[in-house]
Amino acid sequence: MTAAYTLGSLIYEGKAKRVFQTDRPELVAVEFKDDATAFNALKKAQLAGKGELNCQISARLFELLEREGVPTHYLGLQGRSWQVVKPVSIVPVEVVIRNVAAGSLCKQMPIAAGTPLEPPLLDLYYKDDAYGDPLLTDARLARLGLLTADQRAELERLAFRVNAVLRAFFAAIGLQLVDFKIELGFTAAGELVVADEISPDTCRLWDLQVADASDRILDKDRFRQDLGGVVEAYGEVLKRVQGACPEPRIYG
Ligand code: 5GP
Repeated sequence: MTAAYTLGSLIYEGKAKRVFQTDRPELVAVEFKDDATAFNALKKAQLAGKGELNCQISARLFELLEREGVPTHYLGLQGRSWQVVKPVSIVPVEVVIRNVAAGSLCKQMPIAAGTPLEPPLLDLYYKDDAYGDPLLTDARLARLGLLTADQRAELERLAFRVNAVLRAFFAAIGLQLVDFKIELGFTAAGELVVADEISPDTCRLWDLQVADASDRILDKDRFRQDLGGVVEAYGEVLKRVQGACPEPRIYG
């Protein structure tokens, strides 16, 4: 098979991924790394196999979203830990949807961990490690001028749609989608699409068949809380996702 593109220079290296230019302006290549970080990179480790697992899980979830009419940057897999995606201009806003109270919400608000949140709660954070990704208010978002009112409405509509699709999908494979973070970006054509990744690094996922509050965790909280078995937990998530979505798209 001839390569569909030639890899170019590194555009951006994040905590969990590297993004490369290609010789085709309409394509960029993303490599998923084995690096694990938490608490704004104060905690770091190398977890062999994590990059591949996240790449494989994320590819299938992006394809699921596309099938359900949610636009994403994803074009196809390339090898075990690479994806080909559309170049986008990332909106520096992390969009978090919470179905069940956990994590920072319970540290900042008098809401007990495990409390169901119905309707789900949407929180926006300013994506900038130098400021520690602070929670945005409406006034701060407007002051930063990052989104028009229409773009913001579209971003929230897409995020709730992602939640509805993923929540039902995960429930069908025995996982509770507690919360997740997505990032969105504008394509060259000006379309707002879901970008970055959707994986156990960016979602809280609890095993519905397990009652124990620690044992049921199948996401990055295993790393944050030193619970061990991080790669095994991600492997379990991939096994179940693969059971429902066996054949991801290969680019080219
Ligand atoms: P929390 O607000 O509790 O820290 O996070 C809520 C959800 O969003 C969790 O599923 C968490 O993994 C995800 N999340 C929030 N911020 C980040 C981030 O900067 N990086 C990653 N990988 N996930 C995040």
